[in-house]
Amino acid sequence: MKIVLWLMMPLFLFAVSIENGGVYVLEVKKDSIVKLGKKSIPLMKVKKRYVAFIPIDYKTKSKKICVNIINLNSKREVCVDVKKANYKKEYIKVHNSKVYPTKKVLDRIYKEYKEAKKIYKTVTKKQYWNEPFILPLHSKITSAYGNARMFNHTLKSFHTGTDFRARMKTPIKAINNGVVVIAKDRYYAGGSVVINHGKGLYSCYYHLSKILVKKGQKVKRGKIVGLSGKSGRVNGPHLHFTIELYNHAINPLEFIRKINSFFKH
Ligand SMILES: [Zn+2]
Repeated sequence: MKIVLWLMMPLFLFAVSIENGGVYVLEVKKDSIVKLGKKSIPLMKVKKRYVAFIPIDYKTKSKKICVNIINLNSKREVCVDVKKANYKKEYIKVHNSKVYPTKKVLDRIYKEYKEAKKIYKTVTKKQYWNEPFILPLHSKITSAYGNARMFNHTLKSFHTGTDFRARMKTPIKAINNGVVVIAKDRYYAGGSVVINHGKGLYSCYYHLSKILVKKGQKVKRGKIVGLSGKSGRVNGPHLHFTIELYNHAINPLEFIRKINSFFKH
């Protein structure tokens, strides 16, 4: 009986195929080490359970992702199939300066990009939250995560977050406890707030008209971090909301749904 129970770990809580941009969730024993290649995936504590959230990069070419679960006396490999998601195409018209930036502006964009990447690669040991995640606002989704985008019929990119309809100056809430790591205006993202929730998880709130927190400030779940707006590369007021997990922008709503499911059982 003991052996059977042991074989059942880890628990596979979700489907064995994941779409690119999604997250693979593995519940493991407390002292397990979960490795994706050479990288260790930190375990998050959700209620009294230990969970590895493995981001499946939007641009991944892999058909299969395998992780090693290492315990004191054992090492096992578990794999998940990666399916290509059926993301939509979008055509967006913005001011030409947001598609053809000048050299000076390019320097600024590069600096902001480098700063953000450095933050997203940082894995803080402390986990700041222990309650379910909330949404930054309750509103209609106007553009889903993952849409393939064409700006002014030339610039191709993909949508790294979820857009919510938000009239000017709608209060925007922190989705959980954390520490503010970015609170300033940026060229593409406009008025930006980024919160570190610990263990390599960050939430980002863009295009704000007003920022109501400061870098380094500790915030609680539900704290109003800013007011929505139309700053940065936009064609109208809305909130752009991104989740970064170990430097991968993944589908934020899927992540929240999966992490919150642990609070329901
Ligand atoms: Zn967006």
